[in-house]
Formats: sequence, C-alpha cells, structure tokens
Amino acid sequence: MLSAFRAASRAFAPSASAVFRPRTAALPLGTRGYRHWWKVLPEDFELPQESMPDDVTTLMKSNPVDLGFVDSYWYWRIRAETAILDPENLPKKSYKQLARDMGLVVVNQEAEHMMGIIELYEYLKGSPMIGPFGTIENPVLIPSVTTERIVGCTGGTGDDEHMILFFRCQEGFLYRCGECDQVFMHVRVVYEHEKLWAARDPEVSDVFDFKLLEKGHKMWNEGEMAMWDVGYKAQDAVLGGRVLPGMQEYRDHLDHIASGGAGTLTPH
Ligand SMILES: [Zn+2]
Repeated sequence: MLSAFRAASRAFAPSASAVFRPRTAALPLGTRGYRHWWKVLPEDFELPQESMPDDVTTLMKSNPVDLGFVDSYWYWRIRAETAILDPENLPKKSYKQLARDMGLVVVNQEAEHMMGIIELYEYLKGSPMIGPFGTIENPVLIPSVTTERIVGCTGGTGDDEHMILFFRCQEGFLYRCGECDQVFMHVRVVYEHEKLWAARDPEVSDVFDFKLLEKGHKMWNEGEMAMWDVGYKAQDAVLGGRVLPGMQEYRDHLDHIASGGAGTLTPH
C-alpha cells in the first residue's frame, strides 16, 4: 500500500522533501551496499495535491460513507483542515462534533465495544491461551480473522504438559489434539465497521459548512501568501476553478500534463 502511494506521488509530483532523498534507483550500481530506510514523514502518507477532485462542491455535499478511496481522502482532509484552521469555533464545539469533523471515530458504545474486541484479540494474539481443558461440550475457542489459524497445544501444566504440537485449526471443524485429546474450535472474529462510519448520532451534524472554508481561506490565504494550500485549491474549485490568482496556470498545466503534454508536475 505504502509503496503504491510512493510510486503514485513520485509520478505525480516529487515533493520538496523528496528532492533531498537518496534515489537509489538513479545511482550507479555498487555505490551503496546497504538499504537505507528513510524516516517516515507525514507527507509519505498524503495523496498528491493534484489528485484533489475538481468538483469540491459536490464532493463536500456528498455522504462520506458512499465515497471511494480518493474522494473520501479529500473529503476528510478538506473537512478536517477546515475545522482545525477555525480557531474561533474550536473551543465551542462539543467533543463529538469535533471528533466527527476531524474524521475521527466518535467514542460511542459501539466504538468502545470494537476497541474492547480489538484489545482482547491483540491480547489473545500475543499470549498463550490459558483456560479450562477443551472438551467436545466446551472446546477451546480459537479466535481468528481468517478461515484458519495455526494452534499449538501443550496439554496443560505439570504432568499434563506435552511437547508442543501444532495443527491448522480450520473453520467448521472440531479439532482433537493427537497427544492429549484436548478439543479446539475455530471462531471467526468480525468487526462491524458500518456502525462506526456513519454519523448516526443525532447530536452530531454531518453537513459540511462551505462558509467555513471561505472564512478559513480568507483568514489564512490573504495577500500574497497562501499559507493553507489545500484550502486555497478547494476554495478555487468551489468558486468554479481557475478563479484565484495562479490557479488558471496551475489547472491549465495539470490539464496539459494529463493530456500527454511535456513537462513535470511541480508544486505551483
Ligand atoms: Zn494436546
């Protein structure tokens, strides 16, 4: 996933920081005998600015649950940045509203339940399972996110213990240990995401406020300086595109490259 992002962002536009990164592929063979893992930076996980949809108005009016990957990314990025760059209203927002505006999971009962299951699963994943000896009536339950899980039985403690015996515990069967007759059963763990993604809380508004974007744009991008690039481009798109200073050239250039023209996509 990450490497795909890197490849895509490199193809779109080498960011300023990428210029300073060692490009092993471009170096002659043999100049470096080790792999250099560069520190992960926030921009490594960002989509390039050029992937922002042109129709921001429609985007921000749509239901975020129905959006695809790129649209969802830009919906939440624009909404979150717009919310956080509005310092006047930040303290007035409820916790739930702020969390929703920032694209975070609102802690409700379902979210707590899911975190509980994840923590339980993390715990079960990293530690030996201890419990009553599994029988046909009360088998040892093996949680798994897939259809099978490798299990090792040690029989018990003291005199009951045997050399660890591994087997593939698959969904739909009971398994009996060949050494000690302990019985195991595979159980699928399913996370119910859909209860979390949609803002069904009546106290939380899920309608994007375009005035906020306009206000933020005026606050941060006044004069010659665009201090909030995402807001600048989003606001230009809302105004119809090619409206704000420099955006005519920027979008013309993007279209030129998109239609196979020569040149590189560099930040305008
Ligand atoms: Zn056993």
